[in-house]
Amino acid sequence: MKRILVTGGAGFIGSHLCERLLNEGNDVICVDNFFTGAKENIIHLMGNPYFDPVRHDVVTPFFAEVDEIYNLACPASPVHYQHNGIKTIKTSVMGAINMLGLAKRTQAKILQASTSEVYGDPHIHPQPESYWGHVNPTGIRSCYDEGKRCAESLFMNYHLQNGVCIKIIRIFNTYGPKMHPNDGRVVSNFIMQALQNRDITIYGDGTQTRSFQYVDDLVEGMIRMMATDDNFAGPVNIGNPGEFTIKQLAEIIIRLTGSKSKLVYLSLPQDDPMQRKPDITLAKEKLGWQPLVPLEEGLQKTIAYFKTKIQQS
Ligand code: NAD
Ligand code: UDP
Repeated sequence: MKRILVTGGAGFIGSHLCERLLNEGNDVICVDNFFTGAKENIIHLMGNPYFDPVRHDVVTPFFAEVDEIYNLACPASPVHYQHNGIKTIKTSVMGAINMLGLAKRTQAKILQASTSEVYGDPHIHPQPESYWGHVNPTGIRSCYDEGKRCAESLFMNYHLQNGVCIKIIRIFNTYGPKMHPNDGRVVSNFIMQALQNRDITIYGDGTQTRSFQYVDDLVEGMIRMMATDDNFAGPVNIGNPGEFTIKQLAEIIIRLTGSKSKLVYLSLPQDDPMQRKPDITLAKEKLGWQPLVPLEEGLQKTIAYFKTKIQQS
């Protein structure tokens, strides 16, 4: 039985990962400060004696004996990470230092949940891992983008200097049940608006693109990455190459929900990337991984989850 630490384990992705790791017979410690995560996401796991939820902020060191660490602690939605940009940077940077220190002492393998945001508003399309990106270092997204870029650098330096076994994945837009209904991200916003027949808020003209990955595909990719050869550090893109405009996404969600919502066009936030699509050649080659869940199938499951949330409220 491996003892595995998941930081940000009460969040959207973290809670799915904790569940999968427990189902595979591991002993899981879930560290979270509940900024954007919720006990609700993990309450069904709490009866399991091999699940330890710990309220803790990764900005301060954490002590435990562990075999593997998945470092997910960090708000991911632009609304949440811009709420307190300084705290977002501290979480990414000091959180990485604290978790890498723990990995170094315990000789644990450590995986960093990095992001497609390291590519910024990309000039290369689709984005391969070799692309260094196009990021505004002082813009409103910089607390997240530069925090994550610095974390990647810290991971690589602990690997090269101290021999820590690191794994970096760059996650592209991921959606699914347990997303926070009010986190401001496009999938949760559009589904909630459609289910309540409210206006669907398109920022800009809706021609910007994103590639949406269902959470189960991501969790599979994370576990496969952790299992790779100790010398393989990445970074590796984990995302679904299916690319959609934001307007297309709105139309699909309206159709799947049978909604009467109308599209409304609002101003585009500063530095909003115009296109995003992963090149997953490396993930296919090194992890034998590719996404399996088509957009409409994943959206149906997510819509069903949000319907239940609305009924319960
Ligand atoms: P989320 O906001 O649901 O989860 C983040 C979790 O981290 C929450 O439970 C939150 O309470 C916790 N957290 C935040 N700051 C913390 C701190 N200082 N100490 C302890 N816990 C803290 O977001 P998510 O979508 O589940 O994202 C998880 C990770 O994946 C993040 O690191 C994010 O950057 C990365 N990621 C997500 C996506 C996506 O599309 N969902 C894309 C790229 C990268
Ligand atoms: N977006 C939108 N309406 C919304 C929320 C988001 O048009 O209600 C757009 C946003 O401007 C961006 C895309 O959808 O172009 C994805 O936004 P999200 O916040 O989900 O993720 P990110 O920008 O980090 O990829």
